[in-house]
Amino acid sequence: MRVGCPKEIKNHEYRVGLTPAAVREYVAHGHELIIETGAGSGIDAPDLDYETAGARIVDSAEDVFAAADMVVKVKEPQPQEWAQLRENQILYTYLHLAPDPEQTRGLIGSGVTAVAYETVTDQRGGLPLLAPMSEVAGRLSVQAGARALEKAHGGRGILLGGVPGVAPGKVAIIGGGVVGKEAAKIAIGLGAEVTILDRSIPRLRELDDLFEGRVMTRFSTPTAIDECVFQADLVIGAVLIPGAAAPKLVTRDMLSSMKTGAVLVDVAIDQGGCFETSKATTHAEPTFEIDGVVHYCVANMPGAVPITSAYALNNATLPFGLALADHGLEALKADPHLMAGLNVHRGKITNRAVADSLKTDF
Ligand code: NAD
Repeated sequence: MRVGCPKEIKNHEYRVGLTPAAVREYVAHGHELIIETGAGSGIDAPDLDYETAGARIVDSAEDVFAAADMVVKVKEPQPQEWAQLRENQILYTYLHLAPDPEQTRGLIGSGVTAVAYETVTDQRGGLPLLAPMSEVAGRLSVQAGARALEKAHGGRGILLGGVPGVAPGKVAIIGGGVVGKEAAKIAIGLGAEVTILDRSIPRLRELDDLFEGRVMTRFSTPTAIDECVFQADLVIGAVLIPGAAAPKLVTRDMLSSMKTGAVLVDVAIDQGGCFETSKATTHAEPTFEIDGVVHYCVANMPGAVPITSAYALNNATLPFGLALADHGLEALKADPHLMAGLNVHRGKITNRAVADSLKTDF
């Protein structure tokens, strides 16, 4: 199969759909790889690395879209990209169609077969191609929060780990899934006092076992959130109710009980945010302040560390991508987890959750 990878064109997107290491594996499977010049520049991978891995470099995205049987990307296609997609071509990338009727119409009109990373599943009901970005965002959330806590960045002026003789900072993590667990690891590593709140008791048990007493766990009720937020220097919002907007767990009223200069990092902002006062921010201007509380609400946190993120993403997408390249549409029939990723096929929506949220035919 001819597998193509254009340079990402979404604003401030530096990741790339295929790293040179991934290209080498596709080539070893007998595929022809076509990469747009400069596609890897954001992850410090020059064209020469792709050529060494066996790819052919082409001058433009148009050349990639025209030649490829399968296009591998990171972000959802932009209008000028979906205009170049066609029937009998596979698109393999993040799509997030549910809130995006315009893109959905574009993909339907193109006739392309679109497999969305974010709806591919695994045996345990997880989302294996979303998890690596949650790992990145979880770890980054503490880094971002620690920086925002510095006085010069509007924060309380507290070092999360404290020093001998001075108490550490308090971190409350609301949601103990992938983001929450990774945030806890980093916060513990820094020496902070960490509490994780979750609605799932089995999950709290797992976290309690994993961290062996180094975190406190609380069942997430409004009362528990009230108490933790009141004491916290840093609150990390990491909840997810699959398919739904994030619940507003920290209300504006609660802010007045918080310490001045405390920091809220709302990782769940891509699902609308779990703090009532959150609104999406960018890496260029990541924070704002309300009632003396600093908010960090960057919706594409992994974009800050494209090298780590692109390699983590490729590690997860490679096995499914190879299956698609090796077997084409038969790969979908053979694997129900990959089939769960199929969102649009030859002009029709093929994912129930996407169809339901767009109130259209399935
Ligand atoms: P996950 O499914 O692994 O974990 C979510 C956790 O939230 C679960 O353990 C669930 O039990 C818990 N939860 C649900 N309702 C709760 C409540 N009322 N109180 C406390 N906990 C509750 O999800 P994840 O992969 O950790 O992702 C978390 C959020 O981070 C998602 O919205 C995801 O889209 C987002 N995310 C954002 C970025 C970014 O750049 N901003 C990057 C990656 C992920």
